Amino acid sequence: MDLHIRLQQKLAERAAQGNLRQLKTTAGLTDFCSNDYLGLARSENLRAYIKAAEQQYNHLPLGATGSRLLSGNHLLFEELEETIVQYHQGEAALLYNSGYAANVGLLSALPQRGDTVFYDEASHASMKDGLRLSFAKSYSFRHNSVQDLQQKMRLATGQVYVVVESVYSMEGDRAPLQELALLCRTYNAALIVDEAHAVGLYGEKGEGLTVALGLENEVFAQVITYGKAMGAHGAAVVGPRVLRDFLINYSRAFIYTTGLPTHALIALKCAYQLLPQLNEARSQVKAMASYLFEQLNKINGLRCAPEASVILSVYMEEGGPGKLKALASFLQAEMFDVRPVLSPTVPQGRERLRVIVHAYNTTEEIEGLAKAIAKGI
Ligand code: PMP
Repeated sequence: MDLHIRLQQKLAERAAQGNLRQLKTTAGLTDFCSNDYLGLARSENLRAYIKAAEQQYNHLPLGATGSRLLSGNHLLFEELEETIVQYHQGEAALLYNSGYAANVGLLSALPQRGDTVFYDEASHASMKDGLRLSFAKSYSFRHNSVQDLQQKMRLATGQVYVVVESVYSMEGDRAPLQELALLCRTYNAALIVDEAHAVGLYGEKGEGLTVALGLENEVFAQVITYGKAMGAHGAAVVGPRVLRDFLINYSRAFIYTTGLPTHALIALKCAYQLLPQLNEARSQVKAMASYLFEQLNKINGLRCAPEASVILSVYMEEGGPGKLKALASFLQAEMFDVRPVLSPTVPQGRERLRVIVHAYNTTEEIEGLAKAIAKGI
């Protein structure tokens, strides 16, 4: 069959299921969608810091010019990795070009043939993709169920890894990190925590949930990503020094790619300078999330789950993905940027609106959104 026709058929299958993905631009809408939790991506203060810092690094090339193992390494990378380690209280850090690359690079390389990985079923696609590339066996466990994980431990062979997110990207809830750490200690398993949605928000200086709970010595590796509350781009794996050396030697997503460009490193350096000062934004975003959670729980016909997180999943009690999409379109027409999350990003039957709250959302915007949702369902 002609390849164009085959591709068209695959797209038609998606369209028939009502979950064809399409790119959109939504300038001018009130933001209940982006991951810019603290407003750093739009911060004039951060922009000014970056502008000032750029002068200082005029001697560096704009692009990395190669893999860090070849021409691409320079002192700014190493300086930044030192900042990252101190901030997240590990021993060593290694930058990756994105959170996706960090998870793929870490999980494809670290667990070896004969080892076993247990991962939360709600884990991000990048973690699952990394595990698909690994030679280790991997098994999912029920979302946030330490009990299910413990039962599955009977399947363990070799070195055992437990892979979780500290705050789940779709569910918005937190992992029971203390219990998981305890279990990992009992089974001598290495705990890997993706902090993508907790960095900036949890901990006295926004270090993430691992540090906020004082678990930095229990967690083998933290994945820190910069495209969300840090308002920038890129990621880092924080862990023991030997892990960094191992990844430099074995992690293909690190080895075979051009390093981050200088402007991205400068942005990260500046974001780390601002992050400790953002306590007000951290409390504000949490207050706004609680307020929206409260407002949404008053509306009949929907369920807002599962806690007052900056990521709120809103489920309609009746109607399938079609009705959910119609509600999202209605909200967009009312000038609120809210997106539906459909299968296969989430399992069938678990389609929801994913509402993201930001420090810059006002009480009026929250009330307006809740009213519009009540009207639109
Ligand atoms: N991990 C989690 C939990 C995520 O939600 C995401 C982004 N959706 C990533 C990793 C990937 O990060 P990045 O966008 O930096 O590639």
